[in-house]
Amino acid sequence: MNLIIGSHVSYKTDTGLIGSVKEALSYNANTFMFYTGAPQNTNRSSINKEYVEEAKKLMEDNNIDINNVIVHAPYIVNLANTNNFDFSVSFLKQEVKRCSELGINKLVLHPGSAVNVSKDEGINNIIAGLNIILDNDFDVIILLETMAGKGNEIGRNFEQLNEIIKKVKFSDKIGVCLDTCHISDAGYDLNNFDKVLEEFDNIIGLDKLMCIHVNDSKNVVGSHKDRHENIGYGNIGFDNLINVIYNKKLENIPKILETPYIDNGDKKRAFPPYLFEIKMIREKVFNSNLINDIISYYK
Ligand code: FE
Ligand code: FE
Ligand code: ZN
Repeated sequence: MNLIIGSHVSYKTDTGLIGSVKEALSYNANTFMFYTGAPQNTNRSSINKEYVEEAKKLMEDNNIDINNVIVHAPYIVNLANTNNFDFSVSFLKQEVKRCSELGINKLVLHPGSAVNVSKDEGINNIIAGLNIILDNDFDVIILLETMAGKGNEIGRNFEQLNEIIKKVKFSDKIGVCLDTCHISDAGYDLNNFDKVLEEFDNIIGLDKLMCIHVNDSKNVVGSHKDRHENIGYGNIGFDNLINVIYNKKLENIPKILETPYIDNGDKKRAFPPYLFEIKMIREKVFNSNLINDIISYYK
């Protein structure tokens, strides 16, 4: 099967998209995901077109299809709340434009958190926001991420996401990113993934599923915590994650790792786990020495 696998990578202003592609290649990945700036703020610099052209060439030379590359919107934009709603909308309008300038057509977004409004108002705000943002000429699809249900997060089940999707006017510009840690924490048991996928198909439709975030979870099913764990080291487990990654119905959908960096005990330096996690995934063999392998490779 055609495995499309990658991870979160950095995007730095001084190297632009070229640096991100090189980082992905260093993990032996054939796709990647990045934030166009820091995930926790909305300071963004303009896109360097020269870097984009060179990055595209580098991707072509290394069989990375840019259609599988993902941008993630920053965590702090929140379309559910009335506070900062206008700011979130205008930021996301700009972010869609940035994606288009980068040649990337998939933008993952956390739907929002209904902090100062009711759940229903939150959902209505998200729909209203998306209808403003997606009213453009850009070929960019917003993928709403399935959330763990921490606090007042919207998107804690397939029904909530569908409620939003069916009321978004621009139906060809909206999709879903399924996060394995989040759905497990939300209460979906990945020991029975076929059933989960069937439910997804019945409620939302598999045609809407366009990205998978592959993460293990530090917590048990239904915990609503959202703490990611390295592949095979959490409560979902290696076999269940392999089962998701190699599911026939999910072929051709990019799979992105967002697992935690490994620190060397001193917290001063942390190392990316992705080269070794991707190796395990490609070989379908769990590495019980993962942490040590990572530390000895990078230190
Ligand atoms: Fe996310
Ligand atoms: Fe995620
Ligand atoms: Zn998460």
